[in-house]
Amino acid sequence: MCIFCKIIKGEIPSEKVHDDDICIAFKDIHPKAPFHLLIVPKEHIAKVSELEEGKHDHLIGHLVNVANKLAKKEGVEGYKLQFNVGEKAGQEVMHVHMHLMGW
Ligand code: 5GP
Ligand code: ZN
Repeated sequence: MCIFCKIIKGEIPSEKVHDDDICIAFKDIHPKAPFHLLIVPKEHIAKVSELEEGKHDHLIGHLVNVANKLAKKEGVEGYKLQFNVGEKAGQEVMHVHMHLMGW
Protein backbone atom coordinates (compact mmCIF):
# COMPACT_ATOMS: atom_id res chain seq x y z
CA MET A 1 0.00 0.00 0.00
CA CYS A 2 1.32 3.50 -0.81
CA ILE A 3 2.27 6.00 1.88
CA PHE A 4 -0.76 8.25 1.28
CA CYS A 5 -3.16 5.27 1.41
CA LYS A 6 -1.58 4.44 4.80
CA ILE A 7 -2.14 8.05 5.96
CA ILE A 8 -5.78 7.86 4.75
CA LYS A 9 -6.25 4.62 6.74
CA GLY A 10 -4.61 6.18 9.82
CA GLU A 11 -1.75 3.67 9.78
CA ILE A 12 0.77 6.52 9.48
CA PRO A 13 0.14 9.66 11.57
CA SER A 14 -0.46 13.02 9.91
CA GLU A 15 -1.58 16.49 10.90
CA LYS A 16 -5.02 16.19 9.34
CA VAL A 17 -7.02 19.37 8.76
CA HIS A 18 -9.89 18.02 6.65
CA ASP A 19 -11.67 14.70 6.07
CA ASP A 20 -14.73 13.96 3.92
CA ASP A 21 -16.10 11.11 1.79
CA ILE A 22 -13.87 11.99 -1.16
CA CYS A 23 -10.60 13.38 0.18
CA ILE A 24 -8.46 14.27 3.15
CA ALA A 25 -6.06 17.18 3.67
CA PHE A 26 -3.01 17.21 5.92
CA LYS A 27 0.12 19.27 6.46
CA ASP A 28 3.09 18.54 4.24
CA ILE A 29 5.91 17.07 6.31
CA HIS A 30 8.49 19.26 4.50
CA PRO A 31 6.64 22.56 3.90
CA LYS A 32 7.83 24.63 0.95
CA ALA A 33 5.68 27.64 1.91
CA PRO A 34 4.51 29.09 5.25
CA PHE A 35 1.24 27.17 4.78
CA HIS A 36 1.58 23.90 2.88
CA LEU A 37 -1.16 21.28 2.73
CA LEU A 38 -1.65 18.19 0.62
CA ILE A 39 -5.22 17.52 -0.53
CA VAL A 40 -5.53 13.86 -1.39
CA PRO A 41 -8.39 11.84 -2.89
CA LYS A 42 -9.20 8.71 -0.89
CA GLU A 43 -9.25 6.61 -4.05
CA HIS A 44 -5.78 5.41 -4.98
CA ILE A 45 -4.97 6.82 -8.40
CA ALA A 46 -1.24 7.02 -9.13
CA LYS A 47 -1.18 10.30 -11.04
CA VAL A 48 -3.38 12.93 -12.61
CA SER A 49 -2.68 11.54 -16.09
CA GLU A 50 -4.49 8.34 -15.03
CA LEU A 51 -7.74 10.10 -14.17
CA GLU A 52 -10.55 8.67 -16.27
CA GLU A 53 -12.89 10.93 -18.19
CA GLY A 54 -16.44 10.33 -17.01
CA LYS A 55 -15.42 8.44 -13.85
CA HIS A 56 -13.30 11.13 -12.16
CA ASP A 57 -14.79 14.34 -13.59
CA HIS A 58 -15.96 15.56 -10.19
CA LEU A 59 -12.72 14.91 -8.36
CA ILE A 60 -10.42 17.82 -9.17
CA GLY A 61 -13.24 20.36 -8.75
CA HIS A 62 -13.89 18.92 -5.30
CA LEU A 63 -10.21 19.22 -4.33
CA VAL A 64 -10.22 22.88 -5.45
CA ASN A 65 -13.40 23.58 -3.45
CA VAL A 66 -11.77 22.07 -0.35
CA ALA A 67 -8.58 24.09 -0.96
CA ASN A 68 -10.56 27.34 -1.24
CA LYS A 69 -12.43 26.61 1.99
CA LEU A 70 -9.28 25.69 3.92
CA ALA A 71 -7.40 28.75 2.65
CA LYS A 72 -10.29 30.99 3.69
CA LYS A 73 -10.59 29.30 7.08
CA GLU A 74 -6.85 29.71 7.75
CA GLY A 75 -6.73 33.31 6.53
CA VAL A 76 -4.37 32.53 3.68
CA GLU A 77 -4.44 35.46 1.26
CA GLY A 78 -2.55 34.06 -1.71
CA TYR A 79 -1.88 30.49 -2.70
CA LYS A 80 -0.69 28.13 -5.38
CA LEU A 81 -2.50 24.92 -6.22
CA GLN A 82 -0.12 22.46 -7.85
CA PHE A 83 -0.11 18.94 -9.20
CA ASN A 84 3.20 17.33 -10.09
CA VAL A 85 2.48 14.72 -12.75
CA GLY A 86 5.14 12.06 -13.22
CA GLU A 87 8.65 11.65 -11.89
CA LYS A 88 10.18 13.99 -14.46
CA ALA A 89 8.01 16.81 -13.10
CA GLY A 90 9.02 16.02 -9.52
CA GLN A 91 6.21 13.71 -8.41
CA GLU A 92 7.63 11.60 -5.59
CA VAL A 93 4.49 10.04 -4.12
CA MET A 94 2.54 8.06 -6.71
CA HIS A 95 -0.92 8.83 -5.35
CA VAL A 96 -2.74 11.88 -6.76
CA HIS A 97 -2.38 14.92 -4.49
CA MET A 98 -2.82 18.64 -4.85
CA HIS A 99 -0.36 20.94 -3.12
CA LEU A 100 -1.86 24.02 -1.45
CA MET A 101 1.01 26.40 -0.81
CA GLY A 102 -0.02 29.62 0.83
CA TRP A 103 1.26 32.94 2.11
P1 5GP B 1 5.24 15.33 -4.82
O1 5GP B 1 6.67 15.69 -5.05
O2 5GP B 1 5.01 13.84 -4.99
O3 5GP B 1 4.29 16.16 -5.62
O4 5GP B 1 4.93 15.73 -3.32
C1 5GP B 1 4.92 14.81 -2.29
C2 5GP B 1 4.88 15.61 -1.01
O5 5GP B 1 4.56 14.73 0.05
C3 5GP B 1 6.21 16.28 -0.65
O6 5GP B 1 6.01 17.69 -0.55
C4 5GP B 1 6.59 15.64 0.70
O7 5GP B 1 7.17 16.56 1.59
C5 5GP B 1 5.27 15.09 1.20
N1 5GP B 1 5.38 13.89 2.00
C6 5GP B 1 6.06 12.76 1.69
N2 5GP B 1 5.91 11.83 2.64
C7 5GP B 1 5.09 12.37 3.58
C8 5GP B 1 4.55 11.89 4.81
O8 5GP B 1 4.79 10.76 5.25
N3 5GP B 1 3.74 12.74 5.51
C9 5GP B 1 3.45 13.99 5.06
N4 5GP B 1 2.64 14.73 5.83
N5 5GP B 1 3.93 14.47 3.90
C10 5GP B 1 4.74 13.67 3.16
ZN1 ZN C 1 -2.36 5.33 -2.49
